[in-house]
Amino acid sequence: MKDTTLKCPRCQIEMKQIKREEITIDVCPSCGGMWLDHGEIPRLLEINNNQRAPNKQPNSK
Ligand SMILES: [Zn+2]
Repeated sequence: MKDTTLKCPRCQIEMKQIKREEITIDVCPSCGGMWLDHGEIPRLLEINNNQRAPNKQPNSK
């Protein structure tokens, strides 16, 4: 089984993968839910702490 794309447990649709630094975040385009793999949350928090400037919203076109 391939696990390249996850499905949103709520919407049952494929989630969009966003690469941030070296972390891949799965975002559901429908409900906007974000899902991280194990160990990615502390890494993401670390990155957010380092970036104090507000980031632009990861809105898709
Ligand atoms: Zn969803």
